[in-house]
Amino acid sequence: MFSKEQIEQRCKEVGAKITADYQGKEPIFIGVLRGCMAFMQALLDNVDLYCTVDFMMATSYHGTESTGRVNIVRDVLVDVKDRDVIIVEDILDRGLTLDVVSKMFLERGARSVKIASLLVKKIERTIPIKADYYCFDVENQFVVGFGLDFNQLYRNLPYIGVLKPELYEK
Ligand code: IMP
Ligand code: MG
Repeated sequence: MFSKEQIEQRCKEVGAKITADYQGKEPIFIGVLRGCMAFMQALLDNVDLYCTVDFMMATSYHGTESTGRVNIVRDVLVDVKDRDVIIVEDILDRGLTLDVVSKMFLERGARSVKIASLLVKKIERTIPIKADYYCFDVENQFVVGFGLDFNQLYRNLPYIGVLKPELYEK
């Protein structure tokens, strides 16, 4: 669906936009593991700012089905009070994960919380949430690669592809 070159090109553009928007600030990029892994690096390669990085882990999916619940299974180490937070995610799907995580940082006193997502799924959302920065829209299908997984597999693909239904309809 998207080659490594296409992803890197979009990361250049999105990184430049973040660099311009955060002039004079020192944002903290908080990656939601494990899906953020490849995008975090590709994005930061193109962010020319003093900035810091931390990670957390949340889970909501089993296979290709969302469980509808978000578990924060590992928290950040940093104190986000008065910080400008940019949450880095692999994909904005139903928005549950990002909704829970952004509210959590606001409650902890972050000065601002924005979302950078590699992908945004084109679906109707009941949760009013949007990605402030993103690389690509995708149709409502299950995609893998560049950090995104199916049952923990395929994260290492250097591109984004659609998982063939015969690989999970068993
Ligand atoms: P949400 O809470 O429904 O927005 O789901 C967000 C999480 O579900 C993402 O961080 C992904 O880990 C996972 N997810 C949603 N759609 C896909 C997909 O198409 N491929 C792989 N993971 C997905
Ligand atoms: Mg994820």
